[in-house]
Amino acid sequence: MTLDTLIIGGGISGLSSAFRLAREGMKVAVLERDVLGMEASWAGGGILSPLLPWNYAAPINQLCHHSAQLYPQWIDEIRTHSDTNPEYWPCGMQVLLPFDDPNLLRWTSATDEATYPGFSISLTDTGSLWLPNIAQVRNPRLISALREALTTLGVTVLEHSGTTRLIFSPNSTAIQHVESVHGNHQAGAYLVCGGAWSQQMLADAPPTKTITPVRGQMLLFRTTTDTLKHIIYYKGTYLIPRRDGHLLVGSTLEYVGFDKSTTEEAKNKLMEQAFFLLPALRSATLEKHWSGLRPGSPDNIPTIARHPHTSNLYIDAGHFRYGVTMAATSSQIIADLISHRTPGLDVAPYAWG
Ligand SMILES: Cc1cc2nc3c(=O)[nH]c(=O)nc-3n(C[C@H](O)[C@H](O)[C@H](O)COP(=O)(O)OP(=O)(O)OC[C@H]3O[C@@H](n4cnc5c(N)ncnc54)[C@H](O)[C@@H]3O)c2cc1C
Repeated sequence: MTLDTLIIGGGISGLSSAFRLAREGMKVAVLERDVLGMEASWAGGGILSPLLPWNYAAPINQLCHHSAQLYPQWIDEIRTHSDTNPEYWPCGMQVLLPFDDPNLLRWTSATDEATYPGFSISLTDTGSLWLPNIAQVRNPRLISALREALTTLGVTVLEHSGTTRLIFSPNSTAIQHVESVHGNHQAGAYLVCGGAWSQQMLADAPPTKTITPVRGQMLLFRTTTDTLKHIIYYKGTYLIPRRDGHLLVGSTLEYVGFDKSTTEEAKNKLMEQAFFLLPALRSATLEKHWSGLRPGSPDNIPTIARHPHTSNLYIDAGHFRYGVTMAATSSQIIADLISHRTPGLDVAPYAWG
């Protein structure tokens, strides 16, 4: 079988592009070093928004907002090929005082229905902010749904198949093939979706915006189902209730390289914040504590692009804190670029360099 696109890395970035391309009738394969979706894409919280949009530059808000708007339709498309429900839930988010007033004022005065359709923000009686349209998804379930959809669509998924090298043509105008632990793979296009590991994969053609691992630790509590009905954000900590009574508390931002261990210090700090925000959690069961490595990029801006000189090499990586949020639109941009269509939004900020 001649492959149209070979995707390297099976997190949310790789799987969402595989889904788009396969739906367009392309022959696609995904090479995953371990098991699909068990790195950052599993570890994340699944909030579909920048935490505080007013603290981010326009390229982040543009991509996140566009993608968040696409999500309901995208989830429906995935569900036509899968029985797993990713539990998309527009539960809203409450931001507690204090928040960054100058940024917020600047942002709200420059933002209206025309800039970000469907986005709304209001002040509550207690002085907190209410963002009713912020949604969440259960990312491990979204990964499962995508995996099933890819199987239905005939995508080849090769797990435990780490890529070891990209082999360039003598003048580097094209990738000739990719070496993995199981042999060589050839395709028309090669898409790097290696998350925090993308920089290593692209050692011979690095993106200008360097991608580095940024560790985030999370806690998972089991509560009664009516403990909390929306996301709460307070001074860098967030609580995300799931519909079945699970509740996530996140997260840390740690620059410790590829170290995925968890620490007592982070656990205690997250618990302290969580108990302060929601005293009922004191009697809840702490079920899990884990960490994941975000693909960190300067200013949180991902690289979603074709290589400037190597015509069949693409990247969709470096989404840092918002790769789940951005997935619906990032994958659409990638499908457009690979199919030589002009993407529907300005992609200059996400260029290779
Ligand atoms: C604690 C935490 C909380 C988060 N919360 C949110 C949130 O609420 N909302 C949000 O939008 N985002 C959130 N994120 C960010 C989001 O999870 C990431 O941006 C996103 O998952 C990145 O997806 P990815 O597919 O690019 O990377 P990954 O999920 O890391 O996938 C990369 C894949 O590449 C594979 N790979 C690596 N090397 C090789 C190789 N040599 N060959 C083949 N495969 C390879 C890996 O095994 C992995 O499966 C959070 C992240 C963390 C850690």
